Amino acid sequence: MDMLLDLHVHTAISPCSDLALDDILAHARSRGLDGVCITDHDSMDARHLLRRSVQDNGLLVIVGLEYATSQGDFLLFGPFEDLEPGLDAPSMLARVERAGGVAVAAHPCRLRRPVHIDLVAQGLVHAVETLNGRNTVEENRQAQDWAKRAHLPSVGGSDAHTLAELGRSPTRFFQPVSCLADLVAALRQGACAPARALGPLPLVKDGLPVSANQRTVARP
Ligand SMILES: [Zn+2]
Ligand SMILES: [Zn+2]
Repeated sequence: MDMLLDLHVHTAISPCSDLALDDILAHARSRGLDGVCITDHDSMDARHLLRRSVQDNGLLVIVGLEYATSQGDFLLFGPFEDLEPGLDAPSMLARVERAGGVAVAAHPCRLRRPVHIDLVAQGLVHAVETLNGRNTVEENRQAQDWAKRAHLPSVGGSDAHTLAELGRSPTRFFQPVSCLADLVAALRQGACAPARALGPLPLVKDGLPVSANQRTVARP
């Protein structure tokens, strides 16, 4: 059975996000998501605040991180709780490989913070985020070309920093994902593709509707 996961979500642990973890847990299912990957900037601290598995409401929660380097940002999934920040991309990606994890090039063609393409040639990147909820249409289009040329799997990610953005650019998995190991295997096998958000999104925060101009769903 296919599953929809949002692979790129920032909680308020990220200095740039005001998305409360409780709001993610409460609203993800109603956005059509089967699971959420928490990917705070250089931090897996969300793991201290929840159970890293299926929640009582059926939502799968996996904690990864978005690792910043001067050669681009990477969504990492694996045993990286103690990975120190500030490594250069090749050494960090080599560590990911040694640990049997996965590195996804995050918004690789974003004008600000692009990913250096030669890292792909070195075989250090496992998948490409080709549908990022905060990218322009053109930045996503370039990322799609980039993934195609590199013969790498494509994924979507909302890059949510607010509740309005949660789930607007999910990834469809063509095999069951019920834990981190399943996610790593599915990404490495390329058993996934970017999916469109299920709309209309029921956007309510603190009992109030979220304003209409925040409802825009990014389209490729
Ligand atoms: Zn951020
Ligand atoms: Zn991000």
